[in-house]
Amino acid sequence: MSLDYNSLLLAVGFSAACLGMTLFGIWLTARSEKFLLTWAASVLLIVCDVFAYQAYIDTPGRLLGLATFTFLLLGFATMLGAAHQFTTGASPLPRIAIGAGASLAIALPPMALGYDGLGFMLENAFAALLLFATAYEYWKGRTEFPAPIIGIAGLYTATAISFVLCSGVLVWDGRLVLGHAPSNWAEDLSLIIVIACMTGIGALSLALNQGRLAQHHRREALTDPLTGLLNRRALFDLHGKTPVGVFTAVIVFDLDGFKAINDEFGHATGDEVLKLFAKDLTANLQPGDVAARMGGEEFALVLDRILPEKVEFIAERIRASFASRRIDTETRLLACTVSAGFAFGSEGGTKFDKVLSAADKALYGAKRGGRNRVLAFRRAG
Ligand code: GH3
Ligand code: MG
Ligand code: MG
Repeated sequence: MSLDYNSLLLAVGFSAACLGMTLFGIWLTARSEKFLLTWAASVLLIVCDVFAYQAYIDTPGRLLGLATFTFLLLGFATMLGAAHQFTTGASPLPRIAIGAGASLAIALPPMALGYDGLGFMLENAFAALLLFATAYEYWKGRTEFPAPIIGIAGLYTATAISFVLCSGVLVWDGRLVLGHAPSNWAEDLSLIIVIACMTGIGALSLALNQGRLAQHHRREALTDPLTGLLNRRALFDLHGKTPVGVFTAVIVFDLDGFKAINDEFGHATGDEVLKLFAKDLTANLQPGDVAARMGGEEFALVLDRILPEKVEFIAERIRASFASRRIDTETRLLACTVSAGFAFGSEGGTKFDKVLSAADKALYGAKRGGRNRVLAFRRAG
């Protein structure tokens, strides 16, 4: 089968243009995802390369040669920057500058001096290096969504290998001056691999971005925006369905006289007090413990694998540290206290909401007993 190289190249150009526009369109709806813009720019540069290269095939000349090298290497360096931006959130610029700067500084001079064969060897070698580096960027960030990210890294690697082959065939051929665009089996193969991989990379990356957005929304839905703690829903997602054993405790906290604080100092000061209490809670967490804001000025702490006396000690430490705070307000120093109640699961396992309401009963007892205290749940009778 003889390949119509030009038509295939045109297909790459058009499909890359569509991918670039899609990325740009998605960026318009999710502007915080800046890597989409970097990536769209990189794809646009590849589109420019495709059309410059097509012109070079028809009329080989130094200027067109320099243009196609510049578009391709700058495009791949930008793709490397976009990958880094996607996986780390950091700026893509250093990688773009170093990747494009180094590769262009070495690949352009031979082309400018008429050694187009040497130029193409170097251009393909640097394109491969940039693509390997892009694959490595994804590989480093694979823990977020392993399957699609490893897939993307694999596709970039395959594309990189196809450029290694292009460079290798030219080196094997050994001609420093060609006078025309390289045309050999490696070029044909590379074009087919680019078409296949670009489609795969585009689809996987868009799925990846959607997955990340969905995870972001899920996290938002489970987080209390004021304190950054989990919310009630998240707590029930985590613990609601598992029976609570005898070495697991639930402590509930309720700030004392909080309505009066809001009334006297204003809602904003009330919010500050809530944040400070959340800090005292998190400062006392061990790995595996879960703190949540249940709503209003009520909080819960679930402690796993813990002895009864330790629970009382922790609740008491949180109560005391909060009570000792003096909060600066516009009018005077403000002091606030908290009451707490706690309860345990049972040998056979108790439903989570039962343990929670037992802890609530103990909390009610602490309020009736005068507030600013910790009480354990005691079964009636
Ligand atoms: P007690 O000692 O019996 O617990 O009395 P209290 O005043 O703390 O309890 P009450 O339930 O009467 O008042 C709780 C107040 O918490 C009422 C509500 O306006 C306030 N509140 C609820 N959510 C927020 C919030 O997000 N920010 C602020 N600033 N206030 C809140
Ligand atoms: Mg309350
Ligand atoms: Mg209260």
